[in-house]
Amino acid sequence: MRKKLIEFRNVSFRYGDEQPWVLKNVTFEIYESEWIAIIGHNGSGKSTIAKLLNGLLFPQEGEILINGKQVNQESIWDIRKEVGMVFQNPDNQFVGTTVRDDVAFGMENRGIPRYEMIKRIDETLTAVGMQDYRMTEPHRLSGGQKQRVAIASVLAISPQVLILDEATAMLDPKGRTEIMHTVSNVQEENDLSLITITHDLQEVVQAERVIVMNDGEIWDEATPREIFSKQEELRKIGLDVPFIAILASELKQAGISITDEPLN
Ligand code: ADP
Repeated sequence: MRKKLIEFRNVSFRYGDEQPWVLKNVTFEIYESEWIAIIGHNGSGKSTIAKLLNGLLFPQEGEILINGKQVNQESIWDIRKEVGMVFQNPDNQFVGTTVRDDVAFGMENRGIPRYEMIKRIDETLTAVGMQDYRMTEPHRLSGGQKQRVAIASVLAISPQVLILDEATAMLDPKGRTEIMHTVSNVQEENDLSLITITHDLQEVVQAERVIVMNDGEIWDEATPREIFSKQEELRKIGLDVPFIAILASELKQAGISITDEPLN
């Protein structure tokens, strides 16, 4: 059986005593090497979940466990070795003057020996297809290339969980496809648990399980296929269904089957 890696137990969160609750009694589990997509309308609480997972925020109620260890002020440095995050805007994520320095930065902060750093820079840039750019200044890269470097920087820390919070939102369709291809390769090779927070339901198709958020609560948790079969309900909570799912469903209604497994 797969090992439980992340547990949210009855987590509620608000951004201040006078503020409304933005997460209400949220409970879910994520297993080792599982790919989870979190979807939901704007403001439904997705990014807040990501920040709680990384110890950027702490819940007022309930608890969050990573590898059985509670996320709190004392544990955040250990937790951040386990949980890597890539955000939406690649330009906000660079600290180094070259791609190589950038990947090195997170490792320096964690006291990883130099010989090990050199090895990991090489391995992770190769994994994301950016080895040829190691001496390039980050601002010279395209959006997609920047996100690939951001992923390499996170992988260099050898996390068990990789969270992509709208990491493809600023990319064009080609950049998006390339990133998702890279991500699915590195996930498999490194046996990572992957959490993709996204507006792009096309990306969700690749996940094993989907958590749908609505107004700070879990609205549903199921396979992509099950989720996409609820098109009308998804529209009601402000989500659009990918063209392919609509097409598959319309063809099915017309009695035409394009494939037995149109969504997975
Ligand atoms: P999503 O990622 O699904 O768009 P968020 O987790 O970013 O949702 O936001 C959930 C709710 O929390 C929203 O109502 C948002 O306005 C509010 N919120 C987010 N960040 C802050 C903040 N720093 N201070 C106050 N409210 C916030």
